[in-house]
Amino acid sequence: MAFTNDHLSFSRLSRYEQCPLAFRLHYIDRLEAAPGLPLLFGKAIHATLEDLLREVLTLKLDGPLNEARALDLWSKQWMREGGLHGIDVFQEGVSILRDFCRDEGIVRHESVLDIERPFELQIGRFLVVGALDRVNALDAETIEIVDYKSNRVLFTRAEVDSSLQMSLYQLAAEKLWPWAKTIRLTFQMLRHSIRMETTRSREQLETAKAYVAALGEQIESAAEFPPRLNANCSYCDHKLQCPTYAEALKGKRYVVAENLADLALVAKEREEVAAIAKLAYSRKGELEEVLRARIEKDGEVQAAGHKYSLFTIANTTYPFEATVERLVEGSGLARDEVLRKVAVIDKGALEDLLKESRKRLPRAQVAMLRADVETLAERTFSQRFSSKASKEVSS
Ligand code: SF4
Repeated sequence: MAFTNDHLSFSRLSRYEQCPLAFRLHYIDRLEAAPGLPLLFGKAIHATLEDLLREVLTLKLDGPLNEARALDLWSKQWMREGGLHGIDVFQEGVSILRDFCRDEGIVRHESVLDIERPFELQIGRFLVVGALDRVNALDAETIEIVDYKSNRVLFTRAEVDSSLQMSLYQLAAEKLWPWAKTIRLTFQMLRHSIRMETTRSREQLETAKAYVAALGEQIESAAEFPPRLNANCSYCDHKLQCPTYAEALKGKRYVVAENLADLALVAKEREEVAAIAKLAYSRKGELEEVLRARIEKDGEVQAAGHKYSLFTIANTTYPFEATVERLVEGSGLARDEVLRKVAVIDKGALEDLLKESRKRLPRAQVAMLRADVETLAERTFSQRFSSKASKEVSS
């Protein structure tokens, strides 16, 4: 029987784009999903931010966000969401919320226009639904749509500027707040304390509408929903119901480019191998977690002819002043020369210092300091291999 979308949403569309089989298992077969830790974590952080900001609105609060209250709400979400586990994961949430409260500075309740605002759009014959994480009123004519992201990897500029999600959000905002002359679109990258802003032209919005309508039609006319093994399969909430995932875990391969001059085949095999390698790596992590838990409980573990244990590795660092002093004394070189040869600033430590400075200094001052330091940076460049799916609507 042909499938009919009772509605569309960005998550439906992106699920289909990423893997038609995942779409079928979720929306057509309606199988129970088993979201992994990253998905549960993102959901719990979103819910905490929603609760925190809702209190700002209902209690009409003005001032800095209450960090203690944010952490209290995080603990409550943690208790509610049974699938979350691990002190490191809990701590990650604490750090994100602390940074969030600090980065927000002074929040005036009147500047938060709405949170988790549902919307509906009619695009072609499809009803598109969704919800806006947060809407800020920046001035009498400008609003900002904010979408919180807990991704570990930042989007590229091209991804932000072409995001279908943001195009839909702009269309929704135009409908909900027709008085707004300017609409800003922001991905707030919670793990990085970075805001990635973008805007949309009328032409981009028309293209987005045409794309959504075409994709909606494509889903309904699809004769089959093939699996699309990809680098994110280990996070798929239907991986345990997916035969392709099970086969990939056993290393089953389908594509071998015997003719290396056939670039299409080379690319297909490369993507298949990359997806399987990532799955295998992620599975290795899962298995090692099981073994590690046993080692921590029982000491060394022996199984299937292998011995597993934990060992300690040493990381060596040298205290700066004392080491430079010894090197000057011992090498006969001038201090400047010693420094030129051995001293570098660790990027991670520098980032930590700038992050920590935001607790004491105004955000603009830290931004200037960062920009100042960036002018001193020396960069080396190397080429990396990149692979990204190009989005096409095909029949
Ligand atoms: S595990 Fe991968 S191939 Fe299988 S349904 Fe999920 S996304 Fe698709």
